[in-house]
Amino acid sequence: MELWQEMLRQSVDSAKDLVERFEFDPGQATQLNSLFHIRINPYYLSLIRYPGDPIWLQCIPDARELEDDGLPEDPLAEDSHSPVPSIVHRYPDRVLFLTTSQCSMYCRFCTRKRKVGDSTKINMKYIQDGIDYIAKHPEVRDVILSGGDPLMLTDFLLERILKGLRDIPHVEIIRLGTKMPCVLPQRVTPKLCKMIKKYHPIYVNTHFNHPWECTLEAKRACEMLADAGVPVGNQAVLMKGVNDDPDVMLELVRKLLTMRVRPYYLYQADPTKGTNYFRTPVSKGLDIMDKLRGHTSGLAIPHFVIDAPGGGGKIPLLPQYVIGRAGKNIILRNYKYEIFTYPDLEEEPVGHAPPVEKAYLRKNGKKNGKKEKVEV
Ligand SMILES: *Cc1c(COP(=O)(O)O)cnc(C)c1O
Ligand code: SF4
Repeated sequence: MELWQEMLRQSVDSAKDLVERFEFDPGQATQLNSLFHIRINPYYLSLIRYPGDPIWLQCIPDARELEDDGLPEDPLAEDSHSPVPSIVHRYPDRVLFLTTSQCSMYCRFCTRKRKVGDSTKINMKYIQDGIDYIAKHPEVRDVILSGGDPLMLTDFLLERILKGLRDIPHVEIIRLGTKMPCVLPQRVTPKLCKMIKKYHPIYVNTHFNHPWECTLEAKRACEMLADAGVPVGNQAVLMKGVNDDPDVMLELVRKLLTMRVRPYYLYQADPTKGTNYFRTPVSKGLDIMDKLRGHTSGLAIPHFVIDAPGGGGKIPLLPQYVIGRAGKNIILRNYKYEIFTYPDLEEEPVGHAPPVEKAYLRKNGKKNGKKEKVEV
């Protein structure tokens, strides 16, 4: 057994265990357990500094998960974009491929709580169906292995999947969505990296939410992936009490760059049942973005996105930089709130109209017709 597997075996894995080992009762322990699995491996557990801290909040079950917050279980309507159980096909040229229900730590804010940890919903037996689906859909050029955490699979099983995908000529890139570098960096072994290297181009998106997660072990794991030629990106979730503070986020994105990890997305928390206590107002995210852009390396700036409820995909949000127009000029403000004027060109003919206008014209059957006022 490899070290990481041994560590997994030593995880706190039930509310009862929490109560026994830490004399901590999250309240309604049994109910919490049946609602969403508990697993905190010893590495991640060791990052907790005090009860209720940003690490604790992410992994320790909380009675608030049981409150009826009126939120949906599947806010992103993934299940209705799922042609076979292991695939979510929402965008034209790429798919999510759910390869395992397991994670090395169950995040209390997980947006896929309805499935994750439940092997009747995400299962090895659906993997071949997933590969067959991708093989039959030549438009799929980007496959994102997700779950659960695909690095919960053994190297052997993971390699079988990668091989299966690489046998499909139209699959150009493969991404691994894994939290392992953050929650169980011991999973990233020389053997794993050597295997992954054979199936390039492979990208990894990992998931750090707080600077305390940027340990020496985590750094080593990210560097090993980078040394194996894997570009590593980070997808963070904005959460109350965890990272809803511009200084914390600034420290996180800077630390990530030193670990050779490029911040990719900052997600507005999805409105998922049992996670409402983590949500922040959208204005908080915009405020954080405003305090990052210009104040640190452009390389460190993620895209702030809302994954549209109902399955509309990721929608980027930016602080307001355009203040207005004055004739041909566009009035902008910079990161220091100083005002600048850019001499814009005359508006292009309708064929090059901005997207909203174009969509409106398309809907109204006027491809090349006169310009009409767009009603918003
Ligand atoms: C996030 C996501 C992707 C990948 O989106 P990118 O913007 O390309 O990173 C693909 N499919 C689904 C269903 C997703 O939720
Ligand atoms: S690692 Fe990802 S899939 Fe697993 S519990 Fe955390 S957020 Fe959910």
